[in-house]
Amino acid sequence: MTPRLVVATGNPHKLDEIARLLGGSIPEIRSGSVELVAMTDLGVPPPVEDGDTFEANALIKARAVAAATGLPALADDSGLEVDALDGAPGVRSARYAGDDASDADNNAALVAALADVPEDERTARFVCVAALVTVDGREVTRRGTMEGRVVDQPRGDQGFGYDPYFVADATDGGRTNGQLAPAEKDTISHRGAAFRALAEDVARLLDPA
Ligand code: IMP
Repeated sequence: MTPRLVVATGNPHKLDEIARLLGGSIPEIRSGSVELVAMTDLGVPPPVEDGDTFEANALIKARAVAAATGLPALADDSGLEVDALDGAPGVRSARYAGDDASDADNNAALVAALADVPEDERTARFVCVAALVTVDGREVTRRGTMEGRVVDQPRGDQGFGYDPYFVADATDGGRTNGQLAPAEKDTISHRGAAFRALAEDVARLLDPA
């Protein structure tokens, strides 16, 4: 049977994105001889993410999924930290404007919270923590960040979440993440950095020699 790793997500886009990021350095994932499956395809419900840090939440998800499936599990947790807001929205990024908030609601709340903050004080970063948990209890987390700043007019229709309002330091011409093609965002993104670092741990798990 094809060896499998389970990913703590129900989102097919996230599954594809993680497969692409890990597949860059792990031939078995690129070729499909090791398969990544979404937890929802194995009937695992999403665990409650009540940790105070990205590390805690990524581990909550990966541990729950490894325990429920008996397979090694991958998870991530991510969000936006704005310096002028003392790190908010942080781990609450998906729920900044309320429990059922849409991306538009969260972006409106962010723009309102920064209304009186001058442009040069709008520094921020996206953070992603990627976790690997094995059934015998080995746990690894890797953190990636993308430094930049928040703007008050949205630009671009690529990406998701806060992307139209975030300009990464590593982009030229002041383009927002919403104006970057997915492959370009991968090369500089917090999620790209976290999963490229975790790839070494996944490779060791697959080939312990
Ligand atoms: P989660 O890691 O899936 O829980 O996502 C947390 C939230 O952080 C998302 O709902 C977005 O609001 C925000 N977020 C995380 N990564 C990104 C990104 O790459 N672009 C825009 N928003 C992001």
